[in-house]
Amino acid sequence: MDTIVNGVTASDIPHAVWRKSSKSGAQGNCVEVAPLPTGTIAVRNSRHPDGPALIFTQDEMTAFVDGAKAGEFDDPLATEPPPVAPAPGAATPDSGTPARYRAIGNELESLTGQLLEGDTVLDRDSSERLLRLLSGVAQLQQLHRVDADGNCTICRTKSRRWHPGSRQGECSVHAALSTYLGRSLTTPAAPVQRTGATRRSG
Ligand SMILES: [Zn+2]
Repeated sequence: MDTIVNGVTASDIPHAVWRKSSKSGAQGNCVEVAPLPTGTIAVRNSRHPDGPALIFTQDEMTAFVDGAKAGEFDDPLATEPPPVAPAPGAATPDSGTPARYRAIGNELESLTGQLLEGDTVLDRDSSERLLRLLSGVAQLQQLHRVDADGNCTICRTKSRRWHPGSRQGECSVHAALSTYLGRSLTTPAAPVQRTGATRRSG
């Protein structure tokens, strides 16, 4: 046959060498592919070798395989389109917060660089920026107080219900502050308790 069109009977494709995934079962329940002389790829169901073959371009196959590798078809029964993975460094729908974090990070890096210069004294502008950053951290620390039971004032109320939108678990703000400041600076100091040893005098 001269042209191989979509839906052609698979067994009618001359010299087609069909192959399947090593993950395919031995019972013949397989998706099979065969390269065609035109540079396209035929796909058939091994249970119906005389059934129709669908013809795809290499780009189309690559797009599908890449999506499969990315896990987009892990649930073959899913009806929702796969989520669009953001390109590295691309703005995400909720990029407001990460973008802000990046800006703060850049600012801190710049200020740190100036401080590490040693004999460089921070100018008024830089000092103000540093104070603003520290104020922001202090504000966050005040807002996201975590008590001994792990309840955050903001993220988790005393009713023990997490606010909608906050991930269940440890308060993320508290966790982030702990990473940079250390637990001792973010955890309220425990009330001083008398130990048994000191009470022995009585
Ligand atoms: Zn919190």
